This record gives sequence, C-alpha cells and structure tokens, in this order.
Amino acid sequence: MSRPRFNRILLKLSGEALMGQGQFGIDPETVNGLAAEIASAKAQGHELCLVVGGGNIFRGIAAAAKGFDRTSADYMGMLATVMNALALQNALEDQGIDTRVLSAIPMAAVCEPYIRRRAMRHMEKGRIVIFAAGTGNPYFTTDTAAALRAAEMGCDALFKGTSVDGVYTADPKKDSDATRYDHLSFRRVLSDDLKVMDAAAVALCRDNNIPIVVFNIRQPGNLAEVIAGGGTATIVQN
Ligand code: UDP
Repeated sequence: MSRPRFNRILLKLSGEALMGQGQFGIDPETVNGLAAEIASAKAQGHELCLVVGGGNIFRGIAAAAKGFDRTSADYMGMLATVMNALALQNALEDQGIDTRVLSAIPMAAVCEPYIRRRAMRHMEKGRIVIFAAGTGNPYFTTDTAAALRAAEMGCDALFKGTSVDGVYTADPKKDSDATRYDHLSFRRVLSDDLKVMDAAAVALCRDNNIPIVVFNIRQPGNLAEVIAGGGTATIVQN
C-alpha cells in the first residue's frame, strides 16, 4: 500500500535534529542543510508548517530529575524551542522562503504571538510558519504541541523526523532482528506502547484523524522524497 500525497503538512523536528554531530546546541551547517531540504519539499507545492523541539538545549523532565522545579524547567525547555525556531527561520529566509515564528508564549520583541487565524493567513500567503514554545504549558511536550497545531491548522498529516527510518518492532540500534512497520494503527501504537510520539500526541492525532508519518530526517534528500510519497517511512493511521 502506497502513501497518499498530503497537501498541508506539519513537520515535527526534535531539537536534536539541529545538533549535527554535536552533543548539544545548534550546528549552523546542519540547520542550513535542513532549511534546504524544507525548501525543496515546499517547492513541490506542499503547504508546510513546523514545530521544533528544544531537547538539544534543555529538557524539562531531565532537569527536574536533577532537582530543578519541574514547572520552571519546562518553561526553560519552551524557551529553548524559541531559539531553535529563530535559527530555522533565519536559515529558511536565507533560502528565500518567507517564514514566521509564532510563539505560544508571547514575546513581542522576538516573534509574533500564536494566533490561529494569523497562522492560517501566513500559510495561505505561502509562508512557512514555525510554532515555537510548544503548547505554552508545562508538563507537555513538543510532540503534543505538534499534534495540537496540526489539528488547529487542518493539516492532512504530521511528519515526524527522527534518526531512524520508521517505527520498528524493537530498537534497531540495539536489536539486529528488529523489523520496520510500513503501516500501523493508532490503536496498536498505543496498546503496544510503540515509541512513535508520546501517548497524548498519538491520541490527539487518532481523535482528529491525522496520520503520522515517521521517517529519517538525518538522511540527506529524504524529507522531500518522503513528503512526495516515496522513500522509506512508517505511516500510523486509523
Ligand atoms: N515543553 C513544555 N511544554 C510544551 C512543549 C515543551 O513544557 O508544550 C518543554 C519540556 O520541558 C520539554 C522541552 O520543552 O522537555 C523541550 O521540548 P521537547 O522535549 O518536546 O523537545 P524535543 O525532544 O522534540 O527536542
């Protein structure tokens, strides 16, 4: 069974996708490479919006485990996503693509506040919208923010870029017998606790009938190929 061609797509990138070979932070060359890939996906005529994580800089839950107050740590994590969003915005604008960052936590001097109608208008004008600061609430993740924004923006699919080319029966980096699923149901992902996105994000996509496409973002050229309906990926749907 082949994958359909989706028109309006939300692309979720984890913060780690911006790190390159490093262990922390933002690697400009990697960000430029991602921007070029996003530009070629957009050139195929898709409407694109993005949610970027912050795990390359700060993760609330990990900091809380070391004694940070969880709520403060989560706000720090959300601020980290704003840094990543600004880095991506700059790189995309270098590619000649009008890009707007809309933050769930208003910060007027840095970017626009998230207002759904405004985001819709930007997309109608052919701009790429980057949703920053997650949902704006602690105790959530940017995966959930991605599912939420995909539903709000009426996206046809959520593309989740990871470091592997789909969802496997076991961790392919640890188990050589692990096999990749082409298709999965939301029910199976939730009942078997398969590591696609966190359960809240998966449930939101299931309830709003938004397929999740899991693919490898680290492989050059893959984003445009997978978005065009080719390449290797796992699709999760009802
Ligand atoms: N975060 C949050 N609420 C949200 C989204 C994110 O509190 O709606 C915080 C949380 O601390 C999280 C951090 O921001 O650890 C970075 O996001 P995430 O871990 O999802 O980034 P990724 O793993 O995708 O890089």
